[in-house]
Amino acid sequence: MPEAGALRAVLAFPSTYSVGITSLGYQVVWATLARRADVDVRRLFTDQGDPPHGGSRSRGPALDLFGLSLSWELDGPVLLDLLEQQRIPIWAAERGDGDPIVFGGGPVLTANPEPLAPFFDAVLLGDGELLLPAFVDAVQEHRTAPRAERLRQLAQVPGVYVPSLYAPRYGSDGRLLGVEPAEAGIPATVAKQTWRGNTLSHSTVITPEAAWPSIHMVEVVRSCPELCRFCLASYLTLPFRTPSLDDGLIPAVEKGLSATQRLGLLGASVTQHPQFADLLAWLDQDRFEGTRVSVSSVRAATVTPELGRILAKRGSKSLTIAIESGSERMRQVVNKKLASEEIYAAARYAKEGGLTGLKLYGMVGLPTEEEADVEATAQLLLDLKKATPGLRLSLGVSTFVPKAHTPFQWQGVRPEAEKRLKLLAKRLKPKGIELRPESYGWSVIQALLSRSDRRLAPVIAAARGSHDSLGGWKKAYREVLEQAGTPAMSRSADTPPPAWDDVIHTTWQTERVLPWTHLQGALAPEVLAGHAASSLAGQVDQR
Ligand code: SF4
Repeated sequence: MPEAGALRAVLAFPSTYSVGITSLGYQVVWATLARRADVDVRRLFTDQGDPPHGGSRSRGPALDLFGLSLSWELDGPVLLDLLEQQRIPIWAAERGDGDPIVFGGGPVLTANPEPLAPFFDAVLLGDGELLLPAFVDAVQEHRTAPRAERLRQLAQVPGVYVPSLYAPRYGSDGRLLGVEPAEAGIPATVAKQTWRGNTLSHSTVITPEAAWPSIHMVEVVRSCPELCRFCLASYLTLPFRTPSLDDGLIPAVEKGLSATQRLGLLGASVTQHPQFADLLAWLDQDRFEGTRVSVSSVRAATVTPELGRILAKRGSKSLTIAIESGSERMRQVVNKKLASEEIYAAARYAKEGGLTGLKLYGMVGLPTEEEADVEATAQLLLDLKKATPGLRLSLGVSTFVPKAHTPFQWQGVRPEAEKRLKLLAKRLKPKGIELRPESYGWSVIQALLSRSDRRLAPVIAAARGSHDSLGGWKKAYREVLEQAGTPAMSRSADTPPPAWDDVIHTTWQTERVLPWTHLQGALAPEVLAGHAASSLAGQVDQR
């Protein structure tokens, strides 16, 4: 129970209850806040929420904190709707002493918060385990101070980025020259915080209303040691961490299985856990009869007949592996240490174990990719079908999108990707291989959001109400471009948004100031540039 005088907080998710409650990140942040007696936290989704502070009939007293959990770049406009619904000004600069501190975290904001920066008072960069308690302590300590002073104090907490205390500088050509502290005493850079504890997160809410009904989720690994050059899930969250089996994973799994029979093992690449085979053997016990276990993507080279057998016995029908490309050369470029023979073996073992399907994931438009590399992907799928008859194959394929803090952050989206998605469809569909392509057009919008600076914020605001359509985003961009510098835009930006082609398609020089240069990721830019250079020169990381 919250104590008298507790901080009044709302934690929002930019989607429905069903989707939001299936986000382990959201659940963990909510549980961390709810456990504190000095915080009275209510949940808010787009379709429902807890009763507001002060009772269901009132909008309650003023809030101290409004938290937003963002796991998908394209959800930015929905966040603004939620703020407005709570009568909170959407622009941080328009909030006053009586408005809450609007904060956010999660992978999208940790990678590049700048496009959304003008909407947030504070962004938490990195793992919540350390950051969230330190942040809430600081809010509590300075809760009676004027807003400007509260923000200054929050900016002193390691990993807490207060965008309004940093000012961007642009050159006459529109190029970003730097993002620097706007006043003395504010740190020049903010470093992402890393939790090094042994226990990772698991569900605190199990509900039949979740998108995966009644599932208990357990985080098996954090980050991934493979360092595929495009991979945000690996680079953003380094170092690779694994809880021990006996004191970490088994108690977390056991706790959930006392309440449900559905278990989800999560992580960028769960089979990388050094004791994953032992965990599976433990789940093979008769007392777990009737339990359904699902795993997120596994590394192809770690698939064994035993893995296939236990997953099939525990209700899984298929296995998911990311191959990125059917071309050995392309896999070398992206540092995917995976031989074609290992892909064939994974398919064989999945089938031998009793699984009926294999889902493969790949990409087109990767740096240096030629049409022949995409032909090789089609050929691999066709050969795999012949080699493992009866195993249902599907290929999910997306367009490469550059992500901040990865070695390929400087690379642009390649327009030829669109044609290559069609090429795969032409080769595979007539042969009965299911192809699940992600829209090229949406990849372009994702790149716009992942590499822009804060001049994109007015576009995000203008996309409200039409962010479900590609045309809506393009129209919002055009409108903001046309209005830049006119009185209509004076509130948020008098400079045009970042140039479309430059942000999305251009391969940038490594010397360039990036929108996130003032925010330190796990690896220094020089290290990332070194990884990119060796990959593009064809050298594989030997680890
Ligand atoms: S193996 Fe998968 S999770 Fe690991 S770095 Fe490569 S793409 Fe990322």
